[in-house]
Amino acid sequence: MCLITVGILTISDSCFKHKAKDVSGSILKNIVNNQESKNDNVQEFQIQCSDIVPDNEFIIMEILTRWSDTEKINVILTTGGTGFSSHDVTPEATKKIIQKEAPGIVYAMISECLKITPMAILSRAVCGIRNQTLIINLPGSPKAVKECFNAIANIIPHAVDLILDNKKSVVMTHSNQDDTHNNYLCKNSKNPLNLYKIAHRDRKSPFPLISLEESQDILRNTVEKQIPSVTIDLGSSFGRVLAETVYSPIDVPSFNASIKDGYAVIAQDGKGKRTVICGLVAGHNLRSVKILPGTCARINTGAVVPDDATAIVQVEDTKLLQAAVDDIEEKEIEILIEPTDGLNIRSIGSDIKRNSAVLMAGTKMGAVEIGILASCGCNRIFVTPNPEIGILSTGSELQDVGEILRPGYIYDSNRITLRMMLQAKGFNPIDFGIVSDEESLMVDRIGRVLKKVDVLITTGSVSMGDKDILKRVLKEALNATIHFGRVNLKPGMPTTYATCNYFGKKKYMLCLPGNPVSAMVAVNLFVFPLLNYLTNNNERLTIVKAMLTSKYILDSRQEFARVILRWTDNQIYPQAYSTGSQCSSKLLSCRNANALLILPQKSSSIQELDKGTLVDAMLLEFNYNVNNI
Ligand code: AMP
Ligand code: MG
Repeated sequence: MCLITVGILTISDSCFKHKAKDVSGSILKNIVNNQESKNDNVQEFQIQCSDIVPDNEFIIMEILTRWSDTEKINVILTTGGTGFSSHDVTPEATKKIIQKEAPGIVYAMISECLKITPMAILSRAVCGIRNQTLIINLPGSPKAVKECFNAIANIIPHAVDLILDNKKSVVMTHSNQDDTHNNYLCKNSKNPLNLYKIAHRDRKSPFPLISLEESQDILRNTVEKQIPSVTIDLGSSFGRVLAETVYSPIDVPSFNASIKDGYAVIAQDGKGKRTVICGLVAGHNLRSVKILPGTCARINTGAVVPDDATAIVQVEDTKLLQAAVDDIEEKEIEILIEPTDGLNIRSIGSDIKRNSAVLMAGTKMGAVEIGILASCGCNRIFVTPNPEIGILSTGSELQDVGEILRPGYIYDSNRITLRMMLQAKGFNPIDFGIVSDEESLMVDRIGRVLKKVDVLITTGSVSMGDKDILKRVLKEALNATIHFGRVNLKPGMPTTYATCNYFGKKKYMLCLPGNPVSAMVAVNLFVFPLLNYLTNNNERLTIVKAMLTSKYILDSRQEFARVILRWTDNQIYPQAYSTGSQCSSKLLSCRNANALLILPQKSSSIQELDKGTLVDAMLLEFNYNVNNI
């Protein structure tokens, strides 16, 4: 048993009506969550649902039944409604839906609490089992809820094991949706978590050190086309990639249009007097208005140019000679310039020709691309499917931001950074949380994730420590093919790429190092290219030449140093300013960086680069599209 799903139900009229804060529910959530990370063994609690309901017997029964029968929660903890007052009905509701009582758990809670207060006698809590769910009534007071839960927390995993008939303490929980995952593990585990002999582990990585170029070739060559493509509305296509070249169904503009506010004239008439015969506004099709020599029509920008007119003279190049009798309209004007044929007229198809290719297959849809297709009237477009992406942090030392930091722990910054970087590219990754460096937990979690996603991105656990077990988990337990496990670059060397066949579907796994800077660099060098290949996206990284403003000592690996590029008036090349200490744990070194300097690896002939040297730099912000230049 390794993952225990928990439901927390607060039962209180006043909390339900928002007259009181749900303090006990929050406390319970906190201790359940802490339970998960505190235990270094394989048990893990995961809060799957929580709710607040009033002291109403039927509502309580309905929720308890749904959570146990449909949601298949392992343990439901209720808080509140166990006292002596007339509205307390939690035990009554619980009793009506459980199939077996578990009075020992109640006894354990009451006897522990009696050591603290004689008031514990007044508890009417009930515990019992419904199908495969253990239901435990806890008191409503914040202090008592904590004391009672702590009194029984240790026995919960064992109780759940017994309920599920799990003889051994191994992998799974019960819900039917886990069956595929179980089957996958059974079928594919070559070596399901054999005893790992730390003392005899590899002291040198068994993975060959490959170049960045080789790693990119591997990514490209292992990707299978995602099919089929999908048709979507133009308005929701931001960030998607065109699956086919789009040809314009219309000429843009589809009529000769005026570029200026002015007068439609016959150019040959030259300068001089004109009688104004009418006014032409945008949105009206008055092509057939007769413009005779010596006459003109007032016209607005974007209005249809009459067939007889050969030029538009802007209003600034005209003079009023005579107003109409009503003193509102114009009667006669003077053209002050010599008009030329076609002056200020956008001819039919001059922006986009009908049937011409406007955007090529492989183009990533941005604001401008969407605008272009809108101008052609293409409202439904054919795009490549976006892979479902999952992100997962590994590390027993990690805590979620928002929690109180325990000694020896750090906040998980990678997951949120990764999520934001992917969202900025138009992806919508699923967050699969944190998993401890514990083999069975990792196998279990990754298996579950793979069921839901095409691409899994993890951080951590790929270096050489005895707890860096991810590569082994992928290979041994999930029977994945590791295509590379070491790339000759700094930071990001242990980046690992694996694929596996999950019930006939290829799954891609990019496992990035845990250090936040390494992870961020690896997202740019591996994750984005992989996603580009998967979505047929033709965007490529932009590399520019930049001038060093300080000296760099070269490393034995190719190094991607974070820099700020600044363009100045008197320099041909942008100047590269270091963002400071390049320590791979220091995410601050990525702040403001708009490029990664690509420093070559040191050789016998070159060990350092002086200030003023020109070096390649990869732009982080501005990519160009190879197809559309
Ligand atoms: P690892 O790659 O797991 O050996 O971790 C390398 C370093 O990165 C360690 O100092 C970890 O504590 C840190 N680290 C790992 N994962 C994360 C994360 N999600 N957020 C922030 N730091 C992390
Ligand atoms: Mg780690």
